[in-house]
Amino acid sequence: MTMECVIGLEVHAQLKTQHKMFCVCPVRFGATPNTLICPVCMGHPGALPRLNREAFVLAWRTGLALNCELPPHSRFARKHYMYPDLPKGYQISQHKHPVGWGGQVEIETSGGHRRFIALERIHLEEDAGQLIHEPEEGISNIDYNRCGVPLLEIVTKPVLRSAEEAVAFLRSLRDILRFLDVCDGNMQEGSLRCDVNLSVRKGPDEPLGVRTEIKNMNSFRLMGDAIRYEAQRHGKALEEGLLLEPETRLWDVERQVTRVMRKKETAQDYRYMPEPDLPPIVVEEGSWEAAVGALPELPFARRDRWTELGVSSHDAKTLAGSKALADYFDACLPLVPSAKAASHWIVRDVLRVLHNEGLTVEECKLLPAELAALLSLLEGGEVVRGQAQELVQFIAVNGGTIEDTRQLLGIEEPVGQDAIADAIASLLAEHDELVQRFRSGDSKVFGFLMGQLREATQGKAAMQQASKLLREALRSK
Ligand SMILES: [Zn+2]
Repeated sequence: MTMECVIGLEVHAQLKTQHKMFCVCPVRFGATPNTLICPVCMGHPGALPRLNREAFVLAWRTGLALNCELPPHSRFARKHYMYPDLPKGYQISQHKHPVGWGGQVEIETSGGHRRFIALERIHLEEDAGQLIHEPEEGISNIDYNRCGVPLLEIVTKPVLRSAEEAVAFLRSLRDILRFLDVCDGNMQEGSLRCDVNLSVRKGPDEPLGVRTEIKNMNSFRLMGDAIRYEAQRHGKALEEGLLLEPETRLWDVERQVTRVMRKKETAQDYRYMPEPDLPPIVVEEGSWEAAVGALPELPFARRDRWTELGVSSHDAKTLAGSKALADYFDACLPLVPSAKAASHWIVRDVLRVLHNEGLTVEECKLLPAELAALLSLLEGGEVVRGQAQELVQFIAVNGGTIEDTRQLLGIEEPVGQDAIADAIASLLAEHDELVQRFRSGDSKVFGFLMGQLREATQGKAAMQQASKLLREALRSK
């Protein structure tokens, strides 16, 4: 029997605002518990919320980038539930009038297969506090610092079919949110979390089985593990004719199983009602463009543009890995002689230096104009690869121009073609026996002779050129 897994995701992205959504408490990770709170986010009687405009602008910006339909009116609703981390007894969220409807996110799975994942909606809501359990002492502490932190919830349609697709979706969405600069995407700090809704059916046209939800996945790997386990559990129940309960479950990392957290609530359980303390938001046509600003080109669009310029798809994917890196490459493009050569140098050499030195792309001191100058010198044979690597290593860390650094490091002009030919002639005269071995088919001696040639020219010969000349000399001798 071929079971089909049907998955929908609810992603919570913490918006990069200075202040909480309805008060002026700062948003900061890792502060001493209960130091970033006030009567509004603690839900004290009489305290009134006021919308942080910045949060709405970031949500709108995301909606534009994801091609959502953005209605001119949206409003907040109260979602009621009782839990110790929710001091008001309700969460301010959006119900019937969210920021945006529909939209899509492009994903890529193994083998470079791409497709669009349709979204149901995006809406704003406030975060709740955090319970910190200390089982050994038999107590739980509550930290309310996170209460009222602005979240954008992004809900997909149930169109994902595997753990791999779900992980690819979350990765792609995280990249987009980072490019838009609306969420830092830091999953370890909980800035991006995901609830997974999953059911299984016997085939594409069969009715869906019972749906369960896995809460609060905050790592790609754990999410993949949890989905694979849950799909298997559903499939087995379906095969054996067992009825599953519609539950909210948690992933138990130690035991590698999902376990019940609570029975699943329905919309009725939340007793949604319009939030009486906040007026509806009216977006007048044309009034938000300035606040939202120009949208940056998103990762997939950049990758496509670069591959058309001859950049390999592997390099394009690496370069689109962060906005800073993508912007760096784009800044190089108008200056360099070849997009392909520039992508090679950045992916293989610049990134290696940054990694080894523990630097970020923003900290890289090799300016695009200097990389372009270096590539021109390489192309003209005025420096050889090893020398260029030395220059990249030095300038990426210390800054400076190619010309100054060449003098500073004493990097000499490479050995010219005539000098290489001379070096080859004396090398072959010295190793007549090896030449005979090469000509009788022993190709291994070539590597040894290249090593000797590198030594003879003190590493200042362009190795590609030297290799070609050596091969010619060996054949013609
Ligand atoms: Zn507050």
